[in-house]
Order: sequence, then C-alpha cells, then structure tokens
Amino acid sequence: MHELKIAEDLKDIVLEAASKGNLKKVTRVNVTFGQMVQIVPEIFQFAFTECVRDTSAEGAEVTIEIVPVKMTCNECGTEFIVKDNMFACHKCGSADLKIINGRELFVKSIEGE
Ligand SMILES: [Zn+2]
Repeated sequence: MHELKIAEDLKDIVLEAASKGNLKKVTRVNVTFGQMVQIVPEIFQFAFTECVRDTSAEGAEVTIEIVPVKMTCNECGTEFIVKDNMFACHKCGSADLKIINGRELFVKSIEGE
C-alpha cells in the first residue's frame, strides 16, 4: 500500500499550495506519476480522498496523468519508451540503461475557489 504514503505526502503539498493561493476549497487536483512509480490509480484516488477528509481539499476530484518510462541506452545511446516492462534497448538489446523519465511523482496543479 505505498499509495497511502504517497497520498499523505501529496496531501501536504496540496494543502500548502491551497493556503499560498488563498483557496478556501480545492475542487480538483491534477497529479502526475511516472509509470515506474507503479501506482494503482483507483487505490490512490481512494487513499487521497481519505487523507483529505476534513481539510480544504475534501471532496476534490483527482486527475492522474501517467508518464511513460523513457530510457537511454548506455551502449549505443538510443532513447526509447519502455513498453510492456521490456527493459532492454530496442536497437542493440543491451540492459545497460539509464532512466530519463518515469520516476516522477508530483502535483501538477490544483484548482479551487
Ligand atoms: Zn542500445
């Protein structure tokens, strides 16, 4: 259940942003996750809804955007998007890879009034 831990961290970020932006009520939270974070969106949404109960973000809608994993090959320099958890270079087959995108985890924006 790492979704719960993530939801708690994001709650703090959302509430801080809300108070900075003088929002009395948060109506929508747009979250971006890299695919490497391996989150289950439904569980995260549920966990977040529980976390923000009795705060200004209670009842806020959560929109989740998943960013695909992008890697670069240390052997031949090819950049590629990982599909179906195939962690090997598409060109030369090397497993010596570096992650460029895919471990992100952040609140992209919040909306409220
Ligand atoms: Zn390669």
